[in-house]
Amino acid sequence: MALRWHQTRYRANLVDMHIPDWHPAFLSRFDSKAYADLLQQARVQVAYLYASSCLGICYWPTKVGHQHDGLHGRDILGERVRECHARGMAVVVYTNWWSKWAYDNHPDWRFVNAKGENTADYLWTPGHYGVCCPNSPYTAYVMALVEELLTGYDVEGLWVDMIFWPYSVCYCSHCRRRYHDETGKDLPKVVNWEDPEWVAFQRRREAWLAEVVGGITALARRLKPGVTVGHQCAAWSTGWASGIGSEFFRQNDYLSGDFYGGAAEQSFICNFFSRLSEEPLFEFMTSRCPDLTDHTTTKSTELLEAQALAAVAHNGRFLFIDAIDPVGTMDPAIYAQMGQVFAKTAPYEPFLTPDARPLADVGVYLNFESLMDPRDNGRRVADVSAGRPPVVAAVSNLARTLVQGHVPYAVLTPKDLDALSAFPVIVMPELFMLSSREAEAFRRYVADGGSLYLARSTSLLTTDGVRQADFMLADVLGVRFVGQTREEVTYMAPVPGCEGLFAPSTAQHPLTLMGSQMTVEAVDSARVLATITLPYTDPKDPTRFASAISNPPGTATSFPAVVLNRYGKGRALYVAGALERMEHDAHREVFRRLLGLIAPQPPLVATDAPKAVEVVLFDQAQAGRLILSVLNLQADLPSIPVCAVRVRLRLDGRRPVRLMRFPGETAVPFQEDNSGIEFEVPRLETFLMLGLDYEMTRR
Ligand SMILES: [Zn+2]
Repeated sequence: MALRWHQTRYRANLVDMHIPDWHPAFLSRFDSKAYADLLQQARVQVAYLYASSCLGICYWPTKVGHQHDGLHGRDILGERVRECHARGMAVVVYTNWWSKWAYDNHPDWRFVNAKGENTADYLWTPGHYGVCCPNSPYTAYVMALVEELLTGYDVEGLWVDMIFWPYSVCYCSHCRRRYHDETGKDLPKVVNWEDPEWVAFQRRREAWLAEVVGGITALARRLKPGVTVGHQCAAWSTGWASGIGSEFFRQNDYLSGDFYGGAAEQSFICNFFSRLSEEPLFEFMTSRCPDLTDHTTTKSTELLEAQALAAVAHNGRFLFIDAIDPVGTMDPAIYAQMGQVFAKTAPYEPFLTPDARPLADVGVYLNFESLMDPRDNGRRVADVSAGRPPVVAAVSNLARTLVQGHVPYAVLTPKDLDALSAFPVIVMPELFMLSSREAEAFRRYVADGGSLYLARSTSLLTTDGVRQADFMLADVLGVRFVGQTREEVTYMAPVPGCEGLFAPSTAQHPLTLMGSQMTVEAVDSARVLATITLPYTDPKDPTRFASAISNPPGTATSFPAVVLNRYGKGRALYVAGALERMEHDAHREVFRRLLGLIAPQPPLVATDAPKAVEVVLFDQAQAGRLILSVLNLQADLPSIPVCAVRVRLRLDGRRPVRLMRFPGETAVPFQEDNSGIEFEVPRLETFLMLGLDYEMTRR
């Protein structure tokens, strides 16, 4: 079957055009040919072209919406489609769910938050952003725009930005009426994740959003068979309020979204998109400026190159976002710079294949129901602000811990529940909610020989908001739930015989956890590796303390902090505190040792490279080739080269034929033994891609 555009192209661009039309000079100098020439100079293969912006002002002669006044009827969408196609680019038409124009012209369509505010009152810069409610007639208006675009223009893809609940719950008349029609009730106003009614409301919000997103996807596929459909996939990481769940992701042919964090975040997002995407290639988007609020500062070429190479290392596409000047011009220097960046990444593309599968020792599991914070329970919706949920912080931090340990990992979601056995070790950071289907899948996973690391309160609350008397996975974990420490500074103290796992921490100077721990009882057959030690007093007590500034360990308890249990053919490690959220090397080291303890076999990759070096491994099974990408991404770029790095690869029944360094295909000498190969990388600059051709010796 022929591959579609998005499976073979690795370099993309989007030029933001959030330009209003009150000033006669705005967009007056827009030149579609110059636009396409600049993209060509930057070696762009995929052009995302603005049909409309967050202002809802259209760049084509629309009969449905409002066209930008500065264009005087000119069709700068059609012009760019033709110019980009003429230069061999694939074209994705970009549209934005947000529309200040519709918001201003149809006040009845507006999203209304719990305080009764509209988005221009509370979103980011007051006055700039107008968002309408998906339960209002606005949705039909968007569908009409999409229909006009897809019947009027010859494009390869459609991409919809900003389609999510705008960081809050909507209380508009349309939502109130729909909720009442569907449930006979009024919209809830208090957050409580242990109240099934509140949770059912949140599930309904997710379903309402998925219905609109799915409606757009279905419409696009009906109007233009073969067109790809993508929606902005970044907002899930801001938490439950945006309303994104598994069904949202299923409505995308490939996943893409823009992110502005560091190397660890990019690693995590690439791993997450890579597995969750319905089809390859996922797309990592980021701006050429430090973020979107800056119009002229440009990231260094080294940073842009590192970000583009990191996408390549994960078998993904890199999209850089630029922003147009209000008069319609762009800075040519940026496109010359990006041309240099893509000249560095392009030579690796012939060695990538869309069917390559990432190999990983460790799976990190998360679900979308847990993108909330139980500390919000009982608070009014109006008093809860959106922010990075603890689960996202935990997984992002875990990514850094695993990257530093050179552990190839995969980010797993409910989509992977039938494929858990492919991962020898799976980590569940603290997931505040778990479904019975998930609990059953993990029970079976461990029974069949898997190794599970599970944190803190995971499996005490169902995804329907029903609190359990004991962990749903208590039998697997070998513990019974008792309670939770009152103290929010606690310690993890090794029991005799386990000091090595926690060194240099000891029973007298145990490992600090900034947070409470669950108190549990371990069953007799389970093995306790560490116990909880508490400070002398509750740190919240202002009158009694053991030290004015810190809360030193003072009271040893017999409550287990870490418990190892055998269940069926597998093992489970229960950790009573959120060790995975701690950001110090000391905790990362202990975490990796605990994973090593339950790992059933030696690691896929072992290397003496420094912590800034990430390794990513893909299997191109059809070609009989492993692709090992090595990224040297230090905090300050350009990275200092790393010399004489030893690398060991476990081969799992693959017989090595030849090891090459790409793109030149120069041979790399290696030593082979029963379990794999070992070789030296004499010098590593920012990026190295190696290919190992192999034959299978056993099935
Ligand atoms: Zn609404």
